[in-house]
Amino acid sequence: MDKRQKLDKIAGQIVKDKGCPELAAGATQLVFGDGNPDSEVVFIGEAPGKNEDIQGKPFVGAAGKFLNEMLEMIGLKREDIYITNIVKYRPPNNRDPLPEEKKAFLPYLQSQLEVIAPKVVVTLGRHSTNCFLPDLQISQAHGHPVRAKLQLKKDSKDILDVVILPLFHPAAALYNGAMRQTLIDDFATIPLITRKLQESK
Ligand code: URA
Repeated sequence: MDKRQKLDKIAGQIVKDKGCPELAAGATQLVFGDGNPDSEVVFIGEAPGKNEDIQGKPFVGAAGKFLNEMLEMIGLKREDIYITNIVKYRPPNNRDPLPEEKKAFLPYLQSQLEVIAPKVVVTLGRHSTNCFLPDLQISQAHGHPVRAKLQLKKDSKDILDVVILPLFHPAAALYNGAMRQTLIDDFATIPLITRKLQESK
């Protein structure tokens, strides 16, 4: 099975398991992930919004357009990276995902990461950042890469050695001039991180 087939299997498993039935009932469809499963860089957002729910793909609304612009600034396209969310169904009225919803979807996110095995995980916003680095404050931690050893399965010795780069969420930064520029500047560190990792191979 190649990576795409393995990812399809995880998506199918979410539907089969009927996790978070209240969220699933209010959503149009599962928004699992999109992009290149062979990418070294995975972006993780919070949860799908209205446009994502309609199209079945993450970050296709205003925040996604801004994200695409920032990718372009660093010479990348959406097809070069993989992108997903912690929570895979749209929360009603775009409310923040609840702790139990994030917890319910975490094993699937971990399986996604296990399949893709990225070198860099870019966490977009506090929900995503705190999913991996619970003690960090996004206001302090943004733009500072953190080396982490992720244990993706309970009781497993399989560890994913990654660099996590916490960033502000593009939706939060979209209409806030100072935060917008900070996010653009932080984004510019992504190629520096990947280059450094290449050199240390
Ligand atoms: N915000 C997110 O966190 N994820 C999306 O897919 C869209 C907006």
